[in-house]
Amino acid sequence: MDAPNGGPPPRRGVPPTPVPPVPPVPYTPPPPPPVTGHVLAPAPVRRRPSLAMGAIIGASAFIAVMSLLAGIALVSYTVNGANADSGEPALRDLLHTGTFPDPPPLRTTVSDNPFYALKAPAPIECEVPDIDPASKRSWEAFSAEVGPCLDRLWEPRLADAGMPSDKPTFKVLAEPPDDWSDGPQGQGMTLAFYDSGEQTINVLMPSVTDLADTLPEADEGVWAALLAHEYGHHVQNRVGILERAYDNESEASSRKVELDSLRRTELQAECLGGVGIRGFGGFDATAARTINKLLNGGGDLESHGSSRNRQHWFLQGYKLDTMQSCNTYTAARPLVR
Ligand SMILES: [Zn+2]
Repeated sequence: MDAPNGGPPPRRGVPPTPVPPVPPVPYTPPPPPPVTGHVLAPAPVRRRPSLAMGAIIGASAFIAVMSLLAGIALVSYTVNGANADSGEPALRDLLHTGTFPDPPPLRTTVSDNPFYALKAPAPIECEVPDIDPASKRSWEAFSAEVGPCLDRLWEPRLADAGMPSDKPTFKVLAEPPDDWSDGPQGQGMTLAFYDSGEQTINVLMPSVTDLADTLPEADEGVWAALLAHEYGHHVQNRVGILERAYDNESEASSRKVELDSLRRTELQAECLGGVGIRGFGGFDATAARTINKLLNGGGDLESHGSSRNRQHWFLQGYKLDTMQSCNTYTAARPLVR
C-alpha cells in the first residue's frame, strides 16, 4: 500500500528477535514492509499517514526457530478509535470511513477499549482440516477453511459491539516479498505476517516448510494457532487497539519502554490465538496444551515475551470469559516479560 502523499508509510515490522540458543543481540530493525515500494527505517521510525487517507499500514509476523520455538511480532497501523459513549464519533463509524475527525478522538487506549467488555466468542463447529505444510496448495486449502472459521468466530461478537465486519484475506507466498528481510541470520524466521494496511494474513512457504520438519505429523493445530494469532492482530486492528499500541511504541522514551509495549501487543495476540483455538471447538484442553508447547515452548523473545509468558497468555485466551482476560496492557510486569 502506497503511502499517502508519497511519503514513506508508517509501518511496524517484525523485529527479528534473538532466540536461544543464539546469544542476545541488540534490538534490530523491523523487516521491510510486505509490500514493495516501502522503505523501512532501520529503527522503528513511524510517521502518521495522511489522515484523509486513513492509511493503514502494518505488519505482524510469526517468527520461529527450529527448536520448536515460535515467536511473534507485530506492528501495525490502524484507524482511530473513539469512545462511543462520549458523544464523539463512534468507533464503528471511524472504522467504516477510515478517516479521522480533526482532531482525532483519543478516548480509547490500548487498555481501555469497548472490546474488553465483550464476552468470549462462542465456540463454533469447525473441523480444522489436515494440512501438508510443505505444500502451497495445501496451505491455500487450509486457510480457505480455517479463515472463514475465524470469521464466523469473531464477526458475531464484534458485531454485538457495533464493530464493522471486514474480513481479512489470506495469502500464501511462495517466497517472501522482494524487500523482506528476516534480519541477521540465526535469529529466527518469519512464518506469517499480518498486513494491517491491506488486512491480509500472509503465510511464508519457505519458513513454514522448514518449521514443519521439526513438528509432529499431526500438527494442524499448530498451524491453526498460527493463523488464529495473526487473526488476533486483525481483531486488534478492527477495534483500534493496534493504532494505540503503535502510538505508544513510537512515543516510547526508550527501547525498553518500546519493547514493553510491543510485548504486550504480541502477547495479547497470543491470547487471542488461544481464543481461536478454543473457538474452533475441536481442541480440548489437552490438545491446547500440546499446541501451546509446540508453538510457545521455545526460547524467550525480547520483543515477544518469554516462553513462559507466551504460554500463559495462550492458555489465558483458551479459558477466558471476557476479553478483559486478554488485556495484557494492564497486566503486571512479570506477565509481560
Ligand atoms: Zn503477532
